[in-house]
Amino acid sequence: MIPNRLKEILSQIKQAEIHYHRQPDSVLLLAVSKTKPSSDIAVAYQAGQRHFGESYCQEALIKQRELGAYAITWHFIGPIQSNKTKALAAHFDWVHSVDSLNIAQRLSKQRPANLAPLNICLQVNMSNELSKSGISLDELPQLCEQVALLPNIKLRGVMAIPAPEDDFERQRLPYKTLSQAINKLDCFKLDTLSFGMSDDLIAAIAEGSTIVRVGSALFGARS
Ligand SMILES: *Cc1c(COP(=O)(O)O)cnc(C)c1O
Repeated sequence: MIPNRLKEILSQIKQAEIHYHRQPDSVLLLAVSKTKPSSDIAVAYQAGQRHFGESYCQEALIKQRELGAYAITWHFIGPIQSNKTKALAAHFDWVHSVDSLNIAQRLSKQRPANLAPLNICLQVNMSNELSKSGISLDELPQLCEQVALLPNIKLRGVMAIPAPEDDFERQRLPYKTLSQAINKLDCFKLDTLSFGMSDDLIAAIAEGSTIVRVGSALFGARS
């Protein structure tokens, strides 16, 4: 089941890269395994998947221990409480959901010296979002400037979670707006747009996504 779905999603990504004139292999599949058991991650891993995303710190740390023998690149994509930054800095390769200078400073200070800089994305709340997480587009240039100066973390780009939308063209709109805003910030050498989930990954790829975060389409619905 999971291997077949993985193959299907990778093929959809490849098709979309071609259709929307994206570079081959410019879109990375992040398998979002929150609430799913380590055994599901192991199955996807055996089928070739290497990047996994988790939303809850405690849950992720347990799975990381269980899967210690696997060469997984771990991404944190959930809301960040400041008492969790130490664990995130020590146990993840990427954090997509940074939405304040305070959180970025803590991650920078707490990143262990023996590890490569932590890759981070700033979460931007496009106006149509239901969640309270994320900075506004207006705040993005200044936060980029401040975060880019911090040691031990590497500012890679932005992440967005638009409100669900059925219509394909309407799915593209928030991604287009954010993509255009990022192009104007080229001084920061951002290379990552963490855009797109199970229901809108094609629209996200059309607008320049470089990481699609796919959960239910790969692992099945979450209870
Ligand atoms: C759960 C989650 C996803 C995956 O959502 P699906 O609709 O299951 O693909 C992607 N990004 C974030 C931030 C999430 O919390």
